[in-house]
Amino acid sequence: MPTFVYMERCDGCGHCVDICPSDIMHIDKTYRRAINIEPNMCWECYSCVKACPQNAIDARGAADFAPLGHSVRTLREPEKGTISWKVKFRNGHEKNFVSPIRTTDWGSIPAPTELPPPSDEEFESQVLAHEPDALNIVGGVPTLTSDQFRKGVI
Ligand code: SF4
Ligand code: SF4
Repeated sequence: MPTFVYMERCDGCGHCVDICPSDIMHIDKTYRRAINIEPNMCWECYSCVKACPQNAIDARGAADFAPLGHSVRTLREPEKGTISWKVKFRNGHEKNFVSPIRTTDWGSIPAPTELPPPSDEEFESQVLAHEPDALNIVGGVPTLTSDQFRKGVI
């Protein structure tokens, strides 16, 4: 259930490219419009849908709440502090939801590379996040060496 872009609405601003955690939203070099280059790799996180100022992106919703023939539209309105969802079912029935925007200011979350390296305690924590290359650790994340593996079971 990946995203797709309404080309006539997109103005090529690139916000969806910047925010996509799967790095699959790209700007088409010919048309200067966004395109999902690898729909199979879409997380369905809706980040791009909510970030798009032109309301140009849709995602095909999961079948359990929006079966075939449906549409799901999302509209972020920062001035109202809301995100609205319009789910249209194939029989024409519509459901509309309005949720508050989370309180973290838009653009205020630092990139992993702007954060200090994790402490020894944080290495043991389940909340340690981000790819190893983005953690600012000199020499990379500690890993087991081959002589630390047990060979066979006694
Ligand atoms: Fe990327 Fe998420 Fe948008 Fe899919 S829904 S294209 S993973 S930002
Ligand atoms: Fe186009 Fe919206 Fe992506 Fe901007 S955020 S490039 S308008 S699809």
